[in-house]
Amino acid sequence: MGKNIRVRVNNLVRRCGTANPFQIAQTLRIPVRYAPLPPNIRGFLTKPVRRKIIVLNENLDEREQYIVVAHELGHALMHCGTGYAFHADTANYCRSANEYEANLFALYLLSHSYDIDERLLQAVPRNRELFTYQEAHQLLCRCVEPD
Ligand SMILES: [Zn+2]
Repeated sequence: MGKNIRVRVNNLVRRCGTANPFQIAQTLRIPVRYAPLPPNIRGFLTKPVRRKIIVLNENLDEREQYIVVAHELGHALMHCGTGYAFHADTANYCRSANEYEANLFALYLLSHSYDIDERLLQAVPRNRELFTYQEAHQLLCRCVEPD
């Protein structure tokens, strides 16, 4: 595949002039909406007509919102081929290639705003089978944990 997600993220941050996921979404004209979703769904990306929309569970705390928006941006920018209509992110175990890429995208993006240890970034398993959604979420939460 040859996607260098880290380079993509760096280019995006330079292009948008910010690493804030909400501001990037705004710059890319991807609206972020809040909805009363079931507790197990943190957010999703949808594309009802032409325009993509990120929908967030309104009960997420601020830190989680950053993580989910960063993750959904990854989907929006990397996984919008034909036939793409709906994507729901649950707290459940998930090991698809797209989830892995979206989590890496979120990690690299958030590393611009939060002081994430380089060793932590290096430690992200290269084998996506070993980097589950739950692990990614735990890692991301740890990364953006205020000291
Ligand atoms: Zn996802």
